[in-house]
Amino acid sequence: MLRLSFSPVRAVLAVAGLACVAALPLTAHAWGNEGHRMINKLAASSLPADVPAFLRSDAAIAEIEYLGPEPDRWRSSAEPELVAVQAPEHFIDLELADALGPLPHRRLDFEAKVFAAGQRPEKIGLQPWQATEVWERLKAALREYRTLTAAHKDTRPVEQAILFYAGWLGHYVGDASQPLHVSVQYNGWTGPNPNGYTTDHKIHWQFEGPFVAANLHEPEVRAKMTATQILQGDIFENYEKYLRHTGISVEKVYQLEKAGGFVGAGTNESKEFTAERLAAGASMLRDMIYSAWIESAKPVPDPYAGK
Ligand SMILES: [Zn+2]
Repeated sequence: MLRLSFSPVRAVLAVAGLACVAALPLTAHAWGNEGHRMINKLAASSLPADVPAFLRSDAAIAEIEYLGPEPDRWRSSAEPELVAVQAPEHFIDLELADALGPLPHRRLDFEAKVFAAGQRPEKIGLQPWQATEVWERLKAALREYRTLTAAHKDTRPVEQAILFYAGWLGHYVGDASQPLHVSVQYNGWTGPNPNGYTTDHKIHWQFEGPFVAANLHEPEVRAKMTATQILQGDIFENYEKYLRHTGISVEKVYQLEKAGGFVGAGTNESKEFTAERLAAGASMLRDMIYSAWIESAKPVPDPYAGK
């Protein structure tokens, strides 16, 4: 979903009377409802057979699919405190974040760095921290599931928690396959513009909302999903790599828009590109859920040992 806040550059322009963002649709949802549901459904329905059956059932797939747009349901003015804290978790302007140096793995270390630079985290975005924290919640719940299973106890309550974490995670992983969620160029080109890309504040929603809803379907997206893999090594580093790969395509979105790729039925190229991006989100979500399951088998030290 679109951000409704000003970037610092745009705020200055607006004060100067040169730009306004009044046209941003208040009802917009990232990748639209359809895109988020599709990403979550495709991921849940392609989990490998060694993941517990409760996580692969029709009911589980339906629940995870429903939760795809869940964080976009937290944008109402009826919940102002929640809106303020969670809106920045959908995006990151990598250009602004990188200007402050390497991304720290921990959210509060990043926020401290941002404040120290005289800036605000909500203007830069908190995407990778939210995604990795929710993944760690999922992993912790899967570990609990293993413990309860080994003790022959009822696992139904923890199964509910696992489905929620998996679906909730899917929203952010989905957002992060949308190139306009990882750049200052999130809704109209800013700065030098030798190629004449659109500067209207429309491209973001035009691409991820109505165009996807009208033109992208499960079969062509599923066909572009990659083979299942277990993420090796540090989760934050894996996730950052995924974000940076998405970032490569920021200009591509503008090129496609310029060629009329997001109007009506679009072009073959714009449909191929969009299907590949949705598939990238679904593949990464499937791999993150699967990796959380594998990682949850590793024994961890008892935090209360000796106390
Ligand atoms: Zn979002």
